[in-house]
Amino acid sequence: MRFYSPKFRMQGRKTLKLKALGEFKLIDRIREQASEGEGVDRGIGDDAAVLNLPEGHQLLTSTDLLIEGVHFRHDWTDCEALGHKAVAVNLSDIAAMGGSPRYLYLGLACPDEAEISDIDAFLRGVLDETAKYGVSLVGGDTCRSPGPWMISVTVEGSAPRDQAIGRDGAQPGDLIMVSGTLGDSALALRLIEEDKDAHTSLLKRHHQPVAQVELGRLLGENHLASAMIDVSDGLAGDLEHILQASQVDGLIEEAELPLSEEFQVHLGKAPALLELALYGGEDYELLFTVTPDQAPSVRELCAARQFPVTTIGYISKGSGLLSLKEKTGEARPLLVRGYDHFCRT
Ligand code: ADP
Ligand code: MG
Repeated sequence: MRFYSPKFRMQGRKTLKLKALGEFKLIDRIREQASEGEGVDRGIGDDAAVLNLPEGHQLLTSTDLLIEGVHFRHDWTDCEALGHKAVAVNLSDIAAMGGSPRYLYLGLACPDEAEISDIDAFLRGVLDETAKYGVSLVGGDTCRSPGPWMISVTVEGSAPRDQAIGRDGAQPGDLIMVSGTLGDSALALRLIEEDKDAHTSLLKRHHQPVAQVELGRLLGENHLASAMIDVSDGLAGDLEHILQASQVDGLIEEAELPLSEEFQVHLGKAPALLELALYGGEDYELLFTVTPDQAPSVRELCAARQFPVTTIGYISKGSGLLSLKEKTGEARPLLVRGYDHFCRT
């Protein structure tokens, strides 16, 4: 994930600072707001959470860090949206395994000057997002930060034994499919950075990404995807992860890339923006491969449930190379440049 963004400058009078409340009252506040859902024997308040998984399920776990100044800026985002997004990006990882998210842990480091109203707004976002999917906040850690806010979210989910879908199962002949549309979040970010107006639908894709939990579970339950990943770092970069893990090549067709109406309007004026659909991050769509036999079932089930999915290419024998077939019909290798926190060339 990259920088958040824009136009939610925080306004209004602030009153209570974290240093006046203290760690334990803050944890009490969190505990009061968190509801304990299914499977929770002990949630917040003990040394460790005591949880249950459905019989025969395996545990899926994923963690993400969000650092102020790296992933978000308070002058560009609103704390409630930040809470939503912090959870959604984690749920997306469980969705990408074809599992069901169940439990969430929240590590929170804030400066002692942080406003309680901001922390409350953040928690509201976190708890709203967890509630949507029946996920319980069952623990975490809270401490003082010498400066930036630091947020660590861990989500645990489950899937029946041997149902979890990895990145390494793509086979020559499989079709490459993706849900939703690509590049909207990156386009919103580009417009924000350039201080240009962005349509609400684009901003929403950036600030309030939606994890494709239902679709992931549907594909998992029905054993319909041979490999799957969520698009967090950009289509090309994430597809390359599948290709390398599976040791196959992939070809995607420019003409088939699913683009939103808003994206197409911008693309019409500036064709170079296509790179945002290929390399832009934070789509949080599901990218998966399907055997030709199962493709009709995927299309049928997804149409019945109104999950938009598009076939964008196919897998062939190889060693991890990705190519793009342009609208002219010519294929060229795609240089993959997914987001790398340490190499920013
Ligand atoms: P410990 O000293 O054992 O780490 P803490 O005092 O940090 O215990 O935490 C007490 C309880 O509150 C634990 O159950 C912990 O999981 C929970 N907790 C602490 N911080 C958070 C948080 N930010 N969100 C959710 N639960 C939290
Ligand atoms: Mg602790």
